[in-house]
Amino acid sequence: MPTFQPKEYLRPSTAEEVTMVLTSREGAVIIGGGTEVYELAERGLLSETTALVDLTGLQLDGIERKGPALEAGASVRLSELEDHDAVKHPSMGAVLDSLRSIHPVQVKNLATIGGAVCSSISFFDLPVGLAALDATVQVFGVGANQRKPRLADFMVDFLTPDLKPGEFVTGVTVEPDAYTTSAFTKFCLTGNDWAMVNCGCSLKVEGGAIASAKVVLGGISSGLVTAHETADGLRGLAAEPGSQFDEPAERLDGELRDVVSDYRASAGYRKKLAKVLLRQALNRALTRERG
Ligand SMILES: Cc1cc2nc3c(=O)[nH]c(=O)nc-3n(C[C@H](O)[C@H](O)[C@H](O)COP(=O)(O)OP(=O)(O)OC[C@H]3O[C@@H](n4cnc5c(N)ncnc54)[C@H](O)[C@@H]3O)c2cc1C
Repeated sequence: MPTFQPKEYLRPSTAEEVTMVLTSREGAVIIGGGTEVYELAERGLLSETTALVDLTGLQLDGIERKGPALEAGASVRLSELEDHDAVKHPSMGAVLDSLRSIHPVQVKNLATIGGAVCSSISFFDLPVGLAALDATVQVFGVGANQRKPRLADFMVDFLTPDLKPGEFVTGVTVEPDAYTTSAFTKFCLTGNDWAMVNCGCSLKVEGGAIASAKVVLGGISSGLVTAHETADGLRGLAAEPGSQFDEPAERLDGELRDVVSDYRASAGYRKKLAKVLLRQALNRALTRERG
């Protein structure tokens, strides 16, 4: 099997230096916590890596409220985010649930937010939790150019984030006040398994009814799936925990097209799971909203 033998470990101290390294050195690969880098290396997929680029010199490790936005740096560890007060508000429930569902804890102590989103694997949990809050990704590139794609668009395909040569991720932003409550659920075969399907939803509740909603699913296709029609159909429904949500579940069934079928589950099974998980996520979010 091709071996993983990077010759250099680089620790730039500015964002400009990172882009310079990425554009000038063939085979330079960013390392966050390394939990996915080493998985890929084990499978012989990083044999052309010549240098690892560590971002810890950039101090991208803060979690800050800036007006309506909550910004978390790319180097923030998943366990740090899980322990932070910022994710304890009901509107951040989808993020908190997704972090709590990641096992084992040792992975969360190493893995970073940047690595979780740049892995671009749709059944990873944190991206679904963040995308349910309409998260955007802060991207820094050549010429100090900065852009903020939506996370759901950023994860273009399996292992394919929307990063051009020289670009890297400096952080993730959400606007918690846009929703009143949110939640995340997933289905996997064992406690340590990957999600077969996972689902995040955010709800704005006004006057006892759902005023707006967002529904995102992972594990359904090679990128994240945002269920716009299902979310539209939730508007105006009573915000009652314990509801069956039959109509939204049927809408979701109609909306999910091109569902992946593989050795883990057929497309039909995944669609059934998606409906169950949607109901669970909605009820968890509404229960959370009641306090
Ligand atoms: C044993 C084990 C169990 C796991 N269980 C779960 C689970 O239950 N649920 C779940 O969702 N996930 C699980 N994971 C996956 C885990 O969430 C990911 O491996 C982790 O989020 C990746 O983060 P990292 O910082 O380690 O990324 P790294 O491995 O450092 O990097 C991952 C990828 O992102 C790139 N990258 C990293 N940071 C940046 C950046 N700032 N800008 C641009 N590119 C960047 C790297 O070059 C690489 O391609 C598990 C992993 C392991 C090893």
